[in-house]
Order: sequence, then C-alpha cells, then structure tokens
Amino acid sequence: MGHLLPMAEFAKRLVKHHPISVTIFIPTTGTLPKPQISILESLPENIHHSFLPSVNMDLLPEGSRPEFVISFIMQSNLSSLRDALISLKSRTNLVALVFDIFGHDSLEVAKELNLLNFLFFPSNAMVLSFTFMLQKLDEETSCEYKDLSDPVKVPGSVSFHGRDLIATVQIRTDEVYKSYLLLSKRLNFLDGIIVNSFHELEEETFRVLGAAGQSQTPIYPIGPLIQSATTIELEPHDCIKWLDNQPDRSVVLVSFGSGGTLSLDQTHELALGLEMSGHRFLWIVRSPNNVSDASYFDSSNQIDPLGFLPERFLSRTVKQGLVVPSWGPQIEILSHKATGGFLTHCGWNSTLESVVHGVPMIAWPLYAEQHMNAKMMSEALCLALRSESDENGVVRKEVVKKVVKELMEENEGKKISQRVNEHKGPLWSRCPSL
Ligand code: UDP
Repeated sequence: MGHLLPMAEFAKRLVKHHPISVTIFIPTTGTLPKPQISILESLPENIHHSFLPSVNMDLLPEGSRPEFVISFIMQSNLSSLRDALISLKSRTNLVALVFDIFGHDSLEVAKELNLLNFLFFPSNAMVLSFTFMLQKLDEETSCEYKDLSDPVKVPGSVSFHGRDLIATVQIRTDEVYKSYLLLSKRLNFLDGIIVNSFHELEEETFRVLGAAGQSQTPIYPIGPLIQSATTIELEPHDCIKWLDNQPDRSVVLVSFGSGGTLSLDQTHELALGLEMSGHRFLWIVRSPNNVSDASYFDSSNQIDPLGFLPERFLSRTVKQGLVVPSWGPQIEILSHKATGGFLTHCGWNSTLESVVHGVPMIAWPLYAEQHMNAKMMSEALCLALRSESDENGVVRKEVVKKVVKELMEENEGKKISQRVNEHKGPLWSRCPSL
C-alpha cells in the first residue's frame, strides 16, 4: 500500500499536467486486498492498470522476511513485465518506465526497449542520501552494520546506529542486501529519481544531494504525494461519525500502517497505556504477530483482532476510545478536526499525511526504513516524540501513558504541534489541491 498509493498519486499528477497516459503494472500473489483494489478502481480513465501473473509462493523458504518475499516476487515477475512492456510498446508510443525501489532490475528491460528510466523513490531524501552512500559504506565495513561501534552519518541528515538503518541492509549476506546494494550502484546511471518529499521539509538533505559530486542523476522532489481526503464511499465510516462527536484536537489516532503488527504482549501494553493516559483514542488494531513487525504476507492478519485485547478493555474504554479492526480511513481521520495526535509506525506515507494535516506525532517504528524516519522526525525536525522500548523491545504501558500525556497536555507536545503547523501552512498555500 505504501508503494502503490504514492505511485498512483504520481500517475494522477502526470496525466493531469501532461497529454499522456499511464499504465501501472502490479505484481500479485493472489487476490489484491480490498483497499488496494478501490484505489486502482478510482483512477481516471487514462491511467490503466495491469496485474502481472500471480507468483507461486510455494517456492519460497518458510518464514522468509517481508523484504525477501518482495524481492522474490519482483524477480519472478521480471520476464512477465518484459513481455507486457514489449506488447505495450507495439500498441502505443511508449516513452518511459518508472520503477519502484523493489523493481530496479527492470532498468535493464527499459534499456533494452530504449525507454527513458526513472526511479520512483517512495521514501524521503534522507533515505535516498543513505542509499547513495551505501556503496562506500559497504566497501569500508567488514561486519554487519548493527555491530558497528560508530554511528553512520548520512550526508545532509543525522547519524544512525547501524541497527536503525533500513531493514534491507541488515543481513549483508542475503539476496535482499545484494539487491539494495545494486540499487545504490545504479543510482548514478538513471535518467532521473523522483522522490516523494519536498524541499521545505528536507532542505539540507536535498542541497547535499544536489551538490557537485553527490548525484549525477537529476533528482525531482515532487512530494508530498498523499491521498486526498475525499471518501470514495458515499456513507462515511463509523469512526468518522464517532469523531464528529468528539471535541476538537482531542483524539490520538493509533495506526501502524498497512502491514504493521505488534506482539500480543505489546498489544496489551499499548491498550492499557492508552487507557491509563485518560485521553481519547482511535485505534486501528490488527491481530498480533509473534514479534512486533510486519505481516503483509501472513494469513493471521485475517483473524478478528478484537479478541486479542485485554479482558474488558473494550467495555472499560467505551466512552474514551474507539477500536477499528484491521483497516480504517486514515487520511479522513487525520484530516478530521477532532484528531489531535498520531501514534504512528512512521511509514513515509503516514508521516507525510500527518505533516500535511498538521498532526503532531508519536514515533513508534517497527520495520523497513521506519527507525530512520522516526529519528529524523523526532531529532532532526522535532515533529514527533519518541516511544522508548525496554531491553526486550517492548514499550511498556507506563511509557505509553507518559508519551501520550506529553503529546496531548505538556509543553513538549505543544512545541511539536506548533512546529508541525509551521510546515502545514506554507504547504497548503503552495499546493491548495492537497
Ligand atoms: N492506511 C489506511 N488505513 C489503514 C492503514 C493504512 O488508509 O488502516 C494507509 C495510510 O493512510 C497510508 C498507507 O496506507 O497512506 C500506509 O503507508 P505507509 O507508508 O505509512 O506505511 P506502510 O503500510 O507502507 O508500512
């Protein structure tokens, strides 16, 4: 979802501002989740979509991590994509291929078919800057990055402990790492890199990226590309009706993106912490996993999550909060006047949506590049507070209570709120269509 959404928004901008049409090719492992289908079905007529043949997942080693699964799907789809592009080229005046970070092997297909090639980078300039430096870091480092004693300084941004770098670089011997390293090597040989971020948010990082010697490829900061807050469904979701009855800026949205899951222990600690904070909350809750991570390809996320909450939690908090199972209209919630805070996993789309709607955040990163985003949001930009975990990686209920109260009541929260709104104002005047 975090990749499809901005790509679809980008396609909308392209057809709006240029006399061209777009075809989006989508790899699948079976039926697409409903929210993704509704996005594709809501696209204008001159944006087509085409599903690549479903990949046989039985060939995957059991327990493969999400990044590995995605890499496997993309590799398995390469020849189908090539066939589809050859067919499209025979019928249309095909000029360019825009590929996602997981689809960079299609660069070779683009070259073979004489197409312009653009990388669509669905994250921010800081992660892009890290991707540029990865090649050098790889040459200079002999251990796993998590074992480095010195922090890794990302040009134009902050420093990171090796364990907080993106998940794709955490196991240097595996295929996922090799693929990401290859992406790093390819960056200087593209026709362009399209980044879903904007100058005002990451001025210094874009400046450093553009400085002589850094990037030989033109970089286009075209963000923030986010969904617009108009409900496709005619009848508003029940949670929006619930929000309509809450005081302005009083509710904390809790959501871990399209795939984030917590362990059972963590789900209980979060529930109790929210209750203890005394603040109103709207929690999009997902069934727990063995560990706090992602479950894009896990059937357990089909199970009703409400059964995993602490005993009598729902009845005790009936006047304080609302729990929405599995999926909610996040963008409508963030744009609602009752929403005053966002406890987020720091997926880049969620982060941008929060900034655009002026909602201060509590950063609770889980996987992918979220630990880097969380540090950038809290330390470099001061737009979020951090939730600190204990030695077992669990954020305890007392900490949840403290950080929610800090965001909603205390000076630190007010400062963050003010800073988010300083970003929101100029953004809306520059792009009123947001
Ligand atoms: N989203 C949503 N409802 C949900 C969960 C997520 O609409 O219940 C949307 C959210 O608004 C965002 C996207 O899904 O646009 C998630 O993207 P993000 O990059 O934040 O995280 P990812 O899902 O890729 O981890």
